[in-house]
Amino acid sequence: MNFKAQPKGFSTKAIHAGQDPDQWKSACVIPPISLSTTFKQDAPGEHRGFEYSRSGNPTRNVLETCLASLDNAKYGLTFSSGLGATTAVLTMLNSGDHIIMGDDVYGGTNRLIRQVASRLGISATFVDATNLENFKTALRSETKLVWIESPTNPLIKVTDIKTIAEICHKFGDVTVAVDNTFLTSYFQRPLELGADLVCYSLTKYMNGHTDVVMGGITMNCEKLYSKLKFLQNAVGIVPSPFDCYQVNRSLKTLSLRMLQHQSNAILVAKFLESHDFVEKVLHPALPSHPHHEIALKQTYGYSGVFSFYIKGGLKQATEFLKALKIFTLAESLGGYESLAELPSIMTHASVPIEDRKSLGITDALIRLSVGLEDSEDLINDLKQGLRKAAEA
Ligand SMILES: *Cc1c(COP(=O)(O)O)cnc(C)c1O
Repeated sequence: MNFKAQPKGFSTKAIHAGQDPDQWKSACVIPPISLSTTFKQDAPGEHRGFEYSRSGNPTRNVLETCLASLDNAKYGLTFSSGLGATTAVLTMLNSGDHIIMGDDVYGGTNRLIRQVASRLGISATFVDATNLENFKTALRSETKLVWIESPTNPLIKVTDIKTIAEICHKFGDVTVAVDNTFLTSYFQRPLELGADLVCYSLTKYMNGHTDVVMGGITMNCEKLYSKLKFLQNAVGIVPSPFDCYQVNRSLKTLSLRMLQHQSNAILVAKFLESHDFVEKVLHPALPSHPHHEIALKQTYGYSGVFSFYIKGGLKQATEFLKALKIFTLAESLGGYESLAELPSIMTHASVPIEDRKSLGITDALIRLSVGLEDSEDLINDLKQGLRKAAEA
């Protein structure tokens, strides 16, 4: 297994970018949580960089600078949730515009496009972006935004980001956004592959401690930045200073956490692949994965989230999930604690049933978020769960 080699310097940026003590009067080493909603002006309209906390906040600035640096991006912005970041991107569009979306994007993104954007006159085509021919035929003169996830959720399909970006930019004025929540800036940096926007649910791995809901966007294009910076304030989807402090702190250990998520998840995936009561494992680091080669080519590694099909159906999946003791049965992913869930009934219940069927989101598909516990304990837990499922 040979992913792209990680260039040096990631952890240094995570610890130092945006954190310079000299920016504070007290020279505090750890950035303060700046709770004030308003800032003193020296004369009307004459301020020292901050006026009102929705339009700019010192703690938020620290986080946004650090976030940008991890993607080698010029600009970073944060929002009150991952879907808030998606909403900011959508509000760049006008009625009549068209979006191309990956066909198994995050359930909430799917709902936002189908049930909200559609009412505002924005149309969308959902395509399997791993099929480049299909993807090309979805492009139209009104297409202004392409939104892809790689890997996708919950089917862990890997999209060729570089080729998609090339196709779009050759076609016209199409903004390519990549939801990088599953891999983080440690394992994948879509701007390097030609994407225009990298979007995050920081709620997941980037914060990694399951105690903050937040979103983020990084980019190099100044025009996109000024539009999104305007919308961050104008639409008002901003995170709290306390949450910014927490996420900024979490980024300090991002590389350590991701390396451990990666090694635990690979051990778990290999165990599952060898087990009699498992039908199929979907993990890009396994040679059995259909997009294994492209995953090795475009990413620096793989996180802790992947899916597998258990033998049987809803009954077996339910018995398995109920039997788990260390994995918690819960939605979400990316925290230090291991989680397991059934997408058909939980995270992806809002996806229309015909679509779930054609995508392969069956009642036997289980998604894991492998945490940072000891891998032996995780494997033993899955082992006893599979035994209970086989007896069901
Ligand atoms: C969770 C998630 C989102 C939404 O983020 P929130 O912070 O929950 O609003 C978007 N994309 C992906 C891939 C996610 O996992």
